[in-house]
Amino acid sequence: MCPATPSPVTVRFAPSPTGLLHVGNARTALVNALFARRAGGRVLLRFDDTDAGRSRADYVEAIRRDLAWLGVTWDNEVFQSARADRHAEVVAHLKGTGRLYACYETPEELEYKRRRQRAQGRPPIYDRAGLALTDAERARLEAEGRRPHWRLRLDPEDIRWDDLVRGPCHYDAAHLSDPVLVRADGTLLYTLPSVVDDLDLGITHVIRGEDHVVNTAVQIQLCRLLGGTPPVHAHLSLLTDAAGGGLSKRLGSLSLADLRDDGLEPLAVAALLARLGTSDDIAPVADMAALVAGFDIAHFGRATPKFDPADLTRLNARLLHGMAYADARPRLKALRVDGGPAFWEAVRGNLERLADAAEWHAVAFGDIVPRGASAEDAGFLRTAREALPEEPWDADTWRAWTGALKAATGRKGKGLFRPLRLALTGREHGPDLAALLPLMGRARALDRLARAALAADGHVRSPSITHGPLSDKGTSA
Ligand code: GLU
Repeated sequence: MCPATPSPVTVRFAPSPTGLLHVGNARTALVNALFARRAGGRVLLRFDDTDAGRSRADYVEAIRRDLAWLGVTWDNEVFQSARADRHAEVVAHLKGTGRLYACYETPEELEYKRRRQRAQGRPPIYDRAGLALTDAERARLEAEGRRPHWRLRLDPEDIRWDDLVRGPCHYDAAHLSDPVLVRADGTLLYTLPSVVDDLDLGITHVIRGEDHVVNTAVQIQLCRLLGGTPPVHAHLSLLTDAAGGGLSKRLGSLSLADLRDDGLEPLAVAALLARLGTSDDIAPVADMAALVAGFDIAHFGRATPKFDPADLTRLNARLLHGMAYADARPRLKALRVDGGPAFWEAVRGNLERLADAAEWHAVAFGDIVPRGASAEDAGFLRTAREALPEEPWDADTWRAWTGALKAATGRKGKGLFRPLRLALTGREHGPDLAALLPLMGRARALDRLARAALAADGHVRSPSITHGPLSDKGTSA
């Protein structure tokens, strides 16, 4: 869906490399990428690593790996730490123009001020005491050993923007405390580097969580102050847990790495995260291109979307049930359970996770514990064994064989099929046996029927070689 001429749309995803990506920030990354790709635009991955103490190279690596796993691509990378000189230049400029002013309160003093304001029924807005200090007072505070932090003097204007998700927004700057941009130790808070980088790097759209709405008001004013045109903003409602509460600690910290380790399909995770909070159906998609093609930021609403891991499991299963062999093949190979297209077609409808294919691979090609459900089935299983057609087998073999058995034994329905399934697969349920039987082949089927008949007799306990736990307990004698 790329337009012929390059679009000026440029977005950024700006993680702090202080931890792993979790479902919340992965969603922000994905929505940014889908928005940009839909518009034929560009994606910048910006590492907000100005907090040197907490930023780590291994998290940078992990974030890259997790984004790639999810299917998010980016065109460029920037480290904020590499732009420190430019940030310092802007700080110096703002100090020079008096917009950035020194404040000397300790956190305790600030807390005391806020408490007093509340007690007087006033909003806890910073009183600009720093702005009123004389040179002499400043010198005295510095002589006491105090180091200033620096606040941006906000203009008391109504800051307005048209939010792509929330619609027209406005914030009265008179109701905001002048934000601290520089800490007493000289390090920068997130606000200034973010605005400077967005401006310098040509960011046209800032898409992030609604927890940044107030930041946006301040950033728009700062951006204009620096002579820039603010980017277009979109604030996504934050995810809640299935019960509608804030995303619990466990879910909130649910990392993409956890989901990958859990064996979920990246496309299922992407399909869910791209559509939570939109009016779109949450349904499997063929590939990332389909997600891009169906993406429209206007479909996001203000209601808080629920993130329920059970939805993800369901979507994952639906995705697998419709997955083409060509798409599954590399993954099956990696798991050493590639049984070819006929195997995939036979088992995909029974998978919740792709790794479940291992269980059915053992049923089709490996060794399992055949089960004889009850003593009455022993004779039937022997009859069935004798009636097993000669090879070659095909999709019709099962029907022909069980048809003949029905006629010979008078058994039908569950009485006919259950003992055969237990004998051939060791399980009560599973893929269609018409598809599985030709994969197993005659020698394996003969062996399983014989062992199941013995188990049914009660003569022999099932041998203990198995490929994974049985899905239910045997009832054989
Ligand atoms: N590093 C910031 C965060 O992770 C970026 C926020 C933004 O998108 O501006 O919250």
